[in-house]
Amino acid sequence: MKFLSTLSLGVLAALAAPAQAQDFPGSAPIVAVVPFAAGGPTDKVARDVTAVMARHLKGQIVIENVGGAGGTIGAKKVATARNDGHTVLIHHIGMSTAPALYRQLGFDPLKDFEMIGEIADVPMVLLGTKNLPPDNFKDLLPYIKANSSKLFLANAGIGSASHLCGLLFMSTIGTQLGTVPYKGTAPALTDLIGGQVNLMCDQTTNVAGQIKAGVVKPYVAMQSARIDAFKDIPAAAEQGLPGIEVKIWHAMYAPKGTPPAVVEKLSAALQAAVEDPVFRGKMAELGAQAATGERARPESLRKHLGNEIAKWTPVIRAAGVYAD
Ligand code: ASP
Repeated sequence: MKFLSTLSLGVLAALAAPAQAQDFPGSAPIVAVVPFAAGGPTDKVARDVTAVMARHLKGQIVIENVGGAGGTIGAKKVATARNDGHTVLIHHIGMSTAPALYRQLGFDPLKDFEMIGEIADVPMVLLGTKNLPPDNFKDLLPYIKANSSKLFLANAGIGSASHLCGLLFMSTIGTQLGTVPYKGTAPALTDLIGGQVNLMCDQTTNVAGQIKAGVVKPYVAMQSARIDAFKDIPAAAEQGLPGIEVKIWHAMYAPKGTPPAVVEKLSAALQAAVEDPVFRGKMAELGAQAATGERARPESLRKHLGNEIAKWTPVIRAAGVYAD
């Protein structure tokens, strides 16, 4: 009798598992954690991609902004969240630099997550507050060198895109500036516009509108070629900054142990979203590039994340930069 009831429970559980995945997401919303402040560049990518995904999943996706510590607080929250597919993480390149920067990270990007797929690549621009005297990069460089002790560069915390881009910029020009961390570049941009900080390296998904409105000064695109959507901004290579090529890749993850059928459904929705012409168009308008359907797959993201961790870890160790 006992054997029978145990057996029937086992059979029931086995039947229930695929039924759950089949019904996913059901009526409960999926929470997509963005590990930076609302209204910023990662938030923008997340809101645009999840709007299309939700349609494909016939469900609801809500964004939860959990900013702080360069994205590591939000990522850790998802690493330890319930692994039923109702919590996912949308993060960027910081997922690959955090293991080297944070010695007390508390999660392993490769081991504690199921990979869903890549979303988009976003370029970066060095911006100044509107009342900064130089009007172009040629004049900015000597100005920075002469005023380095008075100038402050905003970023979204150690390991954020703005932090990495700022480090690269300062090491390329051989000048250190003071840095000011925020929970995301949305609040940092407010302070840049207000003049509380002087400079910031930021993703175009955050600053496209402000550049077009002329409320900040874009000095240089942090890549070797000009950005299609911002042809007026000179590229780093034209301004005597060789070897600068910054692209902020974004991807989606779920907690380890999320059922494979659920991962597959999420990834299929992501693949459909990145191929969606409206999403691709929105990204292109902001200077970004949606991933291909091929890159929006778990295997492709696993390989990419592994390669990125292998690329960044020795660079960060050699630079001796640590968050703790
Ligand atoms: N992606 C961050 C944000 O959304 C900014 C950064 O990484 O620099 O605010």
